[in-house]
Amino acid sequence: MNRKIPYGKQYISEEDIAAVSKALTADFLTQGPTILEFENKFAAYVGSKYAIAVANGTAALHLCTLALGVNEKSKVITTPITFTASANCVRYCDGEVDFADIDSETVLLSIESVRKKLALAPKGTYQGIIPVDFAGYPVDLEAYRKLADEYGCWIIEDACHAPGGYFTDSKGIKQRCGNGQYADLAIFSFHPVKHIACGEGGMITTNNEKLYQKIMALRTHGITKDPKKLTENHGGWYYEMHDLGYNYRFTDFQAALGISQLSRAPENLKRRKAIAKKYDEAFKGTAFEVILPDNNTGHAYHLYVIQTDNRKGLYDYLRTKNIFAQIHYIPVNTQPYYKDRGEYPTPNANKYYDRCLSLPMYPTLTDEEQDWVVEQVKSFRK
Ligand SMILES: *Cc1c(COP(=O)(O)O)cnc(C)c1O
Repeated sequence: MNRKIPYGKQYISEEDIAAVSKALTADFLTQGPTILEFENKFAAYVGSKYAIAVANGTAALHLCTLALGVNEKSKVITTPITFTASANCVRYCDGEVDFADIDSETVLLSIESVRKKLALAPKGTYQGIIPVDFAGYPVDLEAYRKLADEYGCWIIEDACHAPGGYFTDSKGIKQRCGNGQYADLAIFSFHPVKHIACGEGGMITTNNEKLYQKIMALRTHGITKDPKKLTENHGGWYYEMHDLGYNYRFTDFQAALGISQLSRAPENLKRRKAIAKKYDEAFKGTAFEVILPDNNTGHAYHLYVIQTDNRKGLYDYLRTKNIFAQIHYIPVNTQPYYKDRGEYPTPNANKYYDRCLSLPMYPTLTDEEQDWVVEQVKSFRK
């Protein structure tokens, strides 16, 4: 096959293009009504009370750590198998990151590993936990909430990989990723490889009104025009800055794209699940290990990961066939920046990193292309 097959790719339709064109001739390019419409629709999709659209997923994480009051005395636990931003948001506020290990079965942050850290440290050492719905596999946030409450910790769910995913709680209720039922805050990204592509973009969801208000202000310089909050009032132009915020705004034409993309999210998720099922069956009984969620777990399949010996050999071989598989992720704690800050033993994460490979997974991947990918992976083995 001559076509290049990436591991992930955006899907832009004619409707998307029409929606953006229309938005470009509207009165507002930014700070207009389309942003609120996207926020409301996104909140409805994930099942949260509030949603705040921001410049990107990293800005979303930063606003979360700011709003939760992370400072130089804070210590926060996250997973090594994630994009670096999940950890960096703590450092932006001068807090310290600690990395617990992953669960080898799910590749998610191991709750046992987190529990051990919390139990061994003097109470009050840790302020928060940032679990990640890695690859689209939803974290059991009910279990994390219970643990976090024992130690007075908050939870930020990094749900960048999992819009539309859900786990089933102990009452048998499907809890959608980012619905704010158990986590204090959740964040999403609209980078092109994610489920909803807006070029750049991010979303924070929550059910906590105070955090919502705080983050809304921090998104725009910490400035308010709300007459109830002003300490003085000089007239119609008057505003006050109460906190040190940022310009982390989203734009109206991106929101128009987001709304259009969101309307296709359910069918795209269905397609991702069909692709995953086909991979599952193709690698059944082979030496390629796959991650199989149980029947109560709604995996969102941002990534489809196989684990194998001689992963580098397979990665290089697939490139010669124009298949651009990818590695997710280099353990964040092994990055030079974090290595200089401390030692975080994560044997499971290191072992996973040596063996993992993300195969092409996106809604417009054709059956023919997927067959080709499977064939090439299997032929490398022979
Ligand atoms: C993409 C991603 C981010 C960061 O999102 P950006 O929009 O690229 O800033 C954070 N966490 C995870 C797990 C991601 O995949």
